[in-house]
Amino acid sequence: MTTLVKKDFIYEGKAKRLYTTDDSKYVIVEYKDSFTAFNGQKKATMSGKGVLNNNISSKLFTLLKEKGVDSHFVERIDETHQLVKRVKIVPLEVIVRNIATGSLCKRLGVEDGLKLAWPLFEMCYKDDDLGDPFIIEDHALLFGWATKDEIDKIKEISLKVNEILKEYFADKNVVLVDFKLEFGKDTDGNLILADEISPDTCRFWDSSTGDHLDKDRFRKDLGDVLGAYREIWKRISA
Ligand code: 5GP
Repeated sequence: MTTLVKKDFIYEGKAKRLYTTDDSKYVIVEYKDSFTAFNGQKKATMSGKGVLNNNISSKLFTLLKEKGVDSHFVERIDETHQLVKRVKIVPLEVIVRNIATGSLCKRLGVEDGLKLAWPLFEMCYKDDDLGDPFIIEDHALLFGWATKDEIDKIKEISLKVNEILKEYFADKNVVLVDFKLEFGKDTDGNLILADEISPDTCRFWDSSTGDHLDKDRFRKDLGDVLGAYREIWKRISA
């Protein structure tokens, strides 16, 4: 258990706050109770959401570590806090899809729910003002957002994360439809997985009923949003 404690506030994002610690290699993440969607246009607060996402994300980062995928996650400190390695975030949002839905269907007109023959790897430029636009590899290379080696490594890790999580969730009667990952460079320059893995950043469908067990319940006003997050936590903590 860490002896490091919260020092100075650094940054507040849509779902998390960051604080320094006495060790410059580590920061503390606080998971908030807030929900946002559509680039911050839709907002809500639900008590208990931060605890659930902290628990789920901690569990999944721990699982990935056991399977050989390094991340910024060091440990869960308490109900809403994690100790993580300090990283400089690569300005890319990486999406892996197993089933077509969401923005993929809007963009290309393909059938919602179509099972993809192999996992689709996509990249967006992480910029709220621009609405995280879809990009191709050349954009990232030309504008210096990542090098070819970094993109290759990001793709390899993302697909490995997909294989691990897809199998893990299948066992819990959950289909891993798609998810978003972020990467960063730690203070030693290593490229590692960062941010969070939770129902905020993944689409989870119940394998039997097709029920949405993720943030789409909030985006689409499907009701019982926290119940869905609780259900994911129940299935993975059992
Ligand atoms: P889509 O591009 O279909 O909207 O989203 C694909 C997947 O990435 C979904 O699981 C969605 O939750 C996740 N995702 C994409 N962009 C964001 C984002 O800006 N924030 C969060 N939390 N998740 C995102």
